[in-house]
Amino acid sequence: MYTTKEDMNNFFGNFPPKTFADGICHIIGSFGNVGVVETSEGLIVFDLAPRQFELRLFKELRSFSDKPVKYIIYSHGHFDHCFGYASIIEEIKEKGWAMPQVIAHESLLDRFEKYRMLDKYHVWLNSQQFASIGVRRQEGVVSAHDTLDPTIIIRGNDNYEFKLGEYNFEIYHDKGETDDSLWMFFPEKKVLFAGDLVMNPGFPNVGNPNKVQRYPKHWAFAMEKMLEKDAEFILPGHGQLIEGKENVKSALSIRIEALHFVHDEVVKRMNEGKWFEQIYHEMLEIYPDKFKNHEFLKPTYGCYRFAIHATYRLYHGWYNTGNPTDLFPAKSDDIAKELLNINSGKEYLNHAKNLYENDKLQLGLHILDVIIKGNNSKDKETLLGAYTLKAKILKQKAELEPSFIAKNSLINGANLMKVKIKELKRNSS
Ligand SMILES: [Zn+2]
Repeated sequence: MYTTKEDMNNFFGNFPPKTFADGICHIIGSFGNVGVVETSEGLIVFDLAPRQFELRLFKELRSFSDKPVKYIIYSHGHFDHCFGYASIIEEIKEKGWAMPQVIAHESLLDRFEKYRMLDKYHVWLNSQQFASIGVRRQEGVVSAHDTLDPTIIIRGNDNYEFKLGEYNFEIYHDKGETDDSLWMFFPEKKVLFAGDLVMNPGFPNVGNPNKVQRYPKHWAFAMEKMLEKDAEFILPGHGQLIEGKENVKSALSIRIEALHFVHDEVVKRMNEGKWFEQIYHEMLEIYPDKFKNHEFLKPTYGCYRFAIHATYRLYHGWYNTGNPTDLFPAKSDDIAKELLNINSGKEYLNHAKNLYENDKLQLGLHILDVIIKGNNSKDKETLLGAYTLKAKILKQKAELEPSFIAKNSLINGANLMKVKIKELKRNSS
């Protein structure tokens, strides 16, 4: 289904803040969403914005209520959900208030540790994934070297209940997008604070190509638990508030159904002795229209194609072709050189142009890679032709691509080709 500009704006929190549930709750779109609950004793803040939006978040929080922040809950440890605390903490210190309780799952601490160990890699990863909206050059945004660490740690599958002022709150752990997910239910006002377990709109982001393993089946179970709450509102991790019992039910049910579908169909094919490539292409063929065309399952950020990978990878190792040639393969550059010894680069380029003209863009890319990998700048004119056509195809594919993550990867690839073209021209002059 087509992803609109408005979908993306909503996804990244560019919508007006809104008070709901009898004036008690407030949603602030701030790249990731922040949920606020006002009680007689103070505020509960569910998730924080990314670091660069923290002042904006703080101002909006204070235009909703002037009560002290008593609890902060992290839905998970991604940078867009728990790094925007500076002004909140500064205010607490200035006013001499007590520090808030910070609730998180124990796996969030491992996540922060991992980010610190792989900080340069994560800066690169996020600069790739968010290239079009510029997380580039902002190392501090994704760094976990300074964090506001939890004071209440949920262990394993434990639930946690607490009371603030006149209200009760229930916190649950489930795996889904991450292994450290928490979601909260506010029974008196029937509000689900879902974190990234629900994005609006969007197919669950379960197979992100840049990131570690995610959990399709567990994710469906998490939403089944949410469904039992018979809620009237879902405050999603990204995108606008979902309101009304029927909408809540439909938002959860269709996602549950889609995740079970992708999980079970991949598993079935693994048991039939099929390898990844066959499973992937078969799965594309059988994707039901009711999911493809569903408003709530738009491939805004994550998408069905990624979910196929996620399920397979959950149960399988890296040897995913079953072909012994691929067990310890030669360098792809060396393979390409051998292919160019059989047929010239020019022939490959003409063939790629032909594929392009016949709208076989993906096949065109594979053929161009033979020239790009094998050429070694021996035939600069052909190499230049390959770079140029590859940039053009990637740009065209990016324009057609609804998923933000996939689109950015394609655009990054096209930009890299432009750099290569410049280098080649500079070296030839
Ligand atoms: Zn998020």
